[in-house]
Amino acid sequence: MAGEHRAAALRTGDAAAAVMGRLDHGRLADMNGNAAPGVTGDGTARTRLERGRGALGPALQLVHTGRAPTRAVLTAQLGVTRATAGAVAAELAALGLIRVDVRPTAEAGAHGRPSHRLAIAEHGPVALAAQVHADGFRAALVGLGGRIVATAPACETVDADPARVLGSVVQSGAELLRETGRRCIGAGLAVPSAVAEPEGTALNPLHLAWPAGAPVREIFAAQVREAGLTGPAFAGNDVNLAALAEHRHGAGRGARDLLCVATGHRGVGGALVLDGRLHIGSSGLALEVGHLTVHPEGRPCHCGGRGCLDVETDPLAFLTAAGRTPGPEVSLLDQARRLIVEEPDESRVRAAIEALIDRLGLGLAGLVNILNPDRIILGGLHGHLLQAAPDRLGAVVAERSLWGRSTGGVPIRPCTLAHNSLVGAAELAWQPVLDDPLAALA
Ligand SMILES: [Zn+2]
Repeated sequence: MAGEHRAAALRTGDAAAAVMGRLDHGRLADMNGNAAPGVTGDGTARTRLERGRGALGPALQLVHTGRAPTRAVLTAQLGVTRATAGAVAAELAALGLIRVDVRPTAEAGAHGRPSHRLAIAEHGPVALAAQVHADGFRAALVGLGGRIVATAPACETVDADPARVLGSVVQSGAELLRETGRRCIGAGLAVPSAVAEPEGTALNPLHLAWPAGAPVREIFAAQVREAGLTGPAFAGNDVNLAALAEHRHGAGRGARDLLCVATGHRGVGGALVLDGRLHIGSSGLALEVGHLTVHPEGRPCHCGGRGCLDVETDPLAFLTAAGRTPGPEVSLLDQARRLIVEEPDESRVRAAIEALIDRLGLGLAGLVNILNPDRIILGGLHGHLLQAAPDRLGAVVAERSLWGRSTGGVPIRPCTLAHNSLVGAAELAWQPVLDDPLAALA
């Protein structure tokens, strides 16, 4: 019924009518079948309509990030009446975004009654997510809740022409859309480079053969249109996007000043999420943590410096420190990860783990002094290093940072999401829907 009502409202071209109808008539205001209290006069109904429309985005964000598992929690979190929360949930369900499970949970709701469960709709729309890194590229479809619905096999060589790579990755995403029959709300791309804003250019794709300043967002958007997809297209730095995904769905949940440092396949990146928003600086270039000096006598860096975090703590640095000559069969990240997981006590591997942790700790301590985060999350190889010697890294950071010893140190955790940059790329595409579901989907 709700779906039909919604379709009718959309055919009239008045998206808001879907909410208005539901809230005015009151019949859907309360899914228990109780008439919504107070929906009598026009004024009250209009107020509730405005509140209801304005609450759709915040409500969807709560369900998306797992913070509203029931309608009772949604009501409390939104600070609206039970009737408004019910209407908002029904509208999101009618849009095909969430599912309202009428089988009540065991826990009682705010009024002592069992509350309906809220979940992401199983067959709802998806974002096309794409990631390019030093060892290849991959496409995926990502639904609400950061759920990866389908992934295409990773490709392992990255052409020097960004248009060819982005064309291939969009094609494999479009193929996934055809196979799954899902509706696509937009596309997001993660690249291993700072992305200048507002231009959307990849300023320093150091570990790709791409030209510096390649207009990646424009190229990606053109490929998305060429593939016949209609939604908007976005692009961002891979570690920024990983941090955003972890903040919403993973190891960063609940942190207020979240610092993320990660090494994927080559190089080291950083990101900061403040009050739920990525801090990207005045032109998109903040948190270039890879070029902090952590070993003044260390190896030369492509930035012109020496002993940067970027070249002292990435997978190549680890393999070299462990006395291994990297082979071409799998990515550097996989080779390094395998050594840490399978041979952590072999003497050269152990020495390499400790040397990299000490250098990483020095870099993190400097960042802690400047940024005062309430949590640090580590991605890629750094997460594995942390797990291989959990106490050592915390001790180095506490020892080397100004407030480290007196405050007991900043919690440091490994990232928990598989493919967090891909999930973060999808978050970019989902953002317009999260901000205003009716406007984005109408
Ligand atoms: Zn450098």
